[in-house]
Amino acid sequence: MLIAVFIYGLLLGSFYNVVGLRVPNGESIVKPRSHCPKCEHVLSPLELIPVISYVCLRGRCRCCKAPVSLVYPLIELMTGLLFVAAPLLLGWSAELLIAWTLISLIVIIWITDIKYMLIPDKILLVFAIILVVERIFIPLTPWWDSIAGAAVGFGLLLFIAVISKGGMGGGDIKLYGVLGIALGVKFVLLSFFIATLIGAVYGGLGLLSGKLKRGNPIPFGPFIGIGALTAYFFGNDIITWYLHSLL
Ligand SMILES: [Zn+2]
Repeated sequence: MLIAVFIYGLLLGSFYNVVGLRVPNGESIVKPRSHCPKCEHVLSPLELIPVISYVCLRGRCRCCKAPVSLVYPLIELMTGLLFVAAPLLLGWSAELLIAWTLISLIVIIWITDIKYMLIPDKILLVFAIILVVERIFIPLTPWWDSIAGAAVGFGLLLFIAVISKGGMGGGDIKLYGVLGIALGVKFVLLSFFIATLIGAVYGGLGLLSGKLKRGNPIPFGPFIGIGALTAYFFGNDIITWYLHSLL
């Protein structure tokens, strides 16, 4: 069962690569078929096997030998592993649907935000609808925690955007609204705290090592994703641990 979930995750990861690279450009996700951007060679089914094709072809196009970005197989592998982690952490329950949806949203955001520094409205809208429908059938307790989570996530980021005068992108604000539907109030706040903490550490290390320059924007999306998944899967443990260390 876990192997099936892993393979399913790999295949979806491959699809999310296409979604993440094409949707921000307003391109169709079905046409044209996947091809080498350099020589236009259309990939055969054998060249589209997640991770394995990349390894077999040693990361190069079969025709023109142009290097293929390592990001593709990494995204596929990451999606597969996260998909498997969900049932291991949550057990086999309906809530898995929410977990897999959340992972899917975050993987796509990782691609669009790292590659284009943006989070497309279309993607947020699609996932907002899916999560609302799922949360109607698989509600949080209390059921309105989803609505409150969305409002608090959106409101908090909007507030920060206003006081920091544009330090937070519009995509980030809307993304927290969508995450709130899945996470609820407590975890959406925790996820924001984790994201800023990791973002600050990353930014600080980047400045110290000279890899980042002051004033250069870094995409916040990847940190939001890590924060959201950490809060979603480990939120209760983190809060319990934190309260214990206070008392
Ligand atoms: Zn090629």
